[in-house]
Amino acid sequence: MQEKTFWLDTVEIPAPASREFPQRVDVAVIGAGFTGLSAARTLAKAGATVAVCDSHTIGWGASSRNGGMVLTGLKLPAATLISRYGQDATARMYAASLKSIDFVENLVREESIACDFSRCGHLEVACKPKHFDDFRRSAEETARHFGHQQRLIPREQMQSEIGSAIYHGGLVDELSAGVNPARMVAGLAVAAERAGAAIFEHSHVDQIQREGASGWKVATARGTLRATNVFVATSGYTSRVTPALQKKIVPIGSYIIVTEVLPEKLAAELSPRNRMIYDSKNYLYYYRLTPDRRMLFGGRAAFFPETASTIRRSAEILRAGMLTVYPQLRNAKIDYVWGGTLDFAFDIMPHAGQLDALYFSLGYAGHGVAMSTYLGNKVAQSILQGRSESVIGEKNARRPDEIPFAGIPFPGAPLGLYNGRPWFLPFAGAWYKLLDWLT
Ligand SMILES: Cc1cc2nc3c(=O)[nH]c(=O)nc-3n(C[C@H](O)[C@H](O)[C@H](O)COP(=O)(O)OP(=O)(O)OC[C@H]3O[C@@H](n4cnc5c(N)ncnc54)[C@H](O)[C@@H]3O)c2cc1C
Repeated sequence: MQEKTFWLDTVEIPAPASREFPQRVDVAVIGAGFTGLSAARTLAKAGATVAVCDSHTIGWGASSRNGGMVLTGLKLPAATLISRYGQDATARMYAASLKSIDFVENLVREESIACDFSRCGHLEVACKPKHFDDFRRSAEETARHFGHQQRLIPREQMQSEIGSAIYHGGLVDELSAGVNPARMVAGLAVAAERAGAAIFEHSHVDQIQREGASGWKVATARGTLRATNVFVATSGYTSRVTPALQKKIVPIGSYIIVTEVLPEKLAAELSPRNRMIYDSKNYLYYYRLTPDRRMLFGGRAAFFPETASTIRRSAEILRAGMLTVYPQLRNAKIDYVWGGTLDFAFDIMPHAGQLDALYFSLGYAGHGVAMSTYLGNKVAQSILQGRSESVIGEKNARRPDEIPFAGIPFPGAPLGLYNGRPWFLPFAGAWYKLLDWLT
């Protein structure tokens, strides 16, 4: 078993063109994942000078480590969102989640990114009878409030969707898709470079300082550059470099195992429609077949971000979990295990816009393949908007669509009890396990 990301064995991520580190750019982007690269592509296409700096390599973060599920919707149920934000704001946020999938599909087509993007749909599976009742309510609300149709699968019809007998029904959304995320992030980097963005790997950003009224000094491992704007795209790896954002984001570990290539007949039995599948628990499992017919099985096996020991332990926990769903896999060899870090805001919502004059987009909570790519582009558009307003005057500047997540409150920890070190994760993990047992 290799302790590495399966997806990175399916693509050679091209090294960026070597070039001199710039002294000044219009926008410095911190982080070369989906968010940062999508933003860089949009900015460079509009003629802005852009430098993307990553501490590691292109796609090193969650963007090459995820399950490749390109999902509709937000993490929280419609009713919770409506009671929190009201009908109109929630409808705009939900619409953004649907648009984000079209955005990824168009981007992949426009830039000819060979990343196995396929509209295979997703299947949410009910772990308890009550969860299936919740699905029914949720599908009704989604249709009524957002005009989006999902399909209920009663328990007795589940065989057509999944080769497992343990679930109490399912909910299908045909709009969701699957992708090879490492190929997608590699293609996005090539597209951003082609548009004119400069990408610098092994360029950790150490410090971002305001300089004068309208600019920033960005100190990196490669040298210091000046930027008119800075876009922070560091997701679950957000650190002390941006303390205000770090205090609002909890890094949570998520882990994945991948089996050997499965016989065609067995793969078709496990997932006859090749859906992106996840279950209804808080401490959830998510799984899918890879394009080369392996079972990819993920979950929050440990709450803490990845280390050698959490990864190793997760392999055992996830294999046991996989066998409760699919006993047919008892003899399947596990070829890969890895972990990555998710970014949870305290309200479990994505947030994008400006904080302390820095642009940012994060808080995807494990639902970020499509949303990060979409919001990277959206925030880039609002940076361009500011730029065109200062150049051609506000009246003549073209207004991009609003970012619905920019208008909602961005809470910190209750009572301010968090300084970026998630001491409460063991308690949160135990709490969610208890909730899964009780509800
Ligand atoms: C195991 C796992 C499974 C997941 N599965 C799914 C899924 O199936 N579907 C889905 O929708 N979402 C999923 N997600 C979430 C999704 O992958 C992320 O939301 C998305 O990739 C975030 O992209 P990003 O570009 O914002 O951040 P990242 O890809 O994490 O990139 C952040 C980058 O910032 C860099 N960085 C941080 N600090 C600095 C600094 N100071 N200087 C320079 N660089 C810095 C890091 O090196 C990193 O490369 C999953 C995540 C994980 C971890």
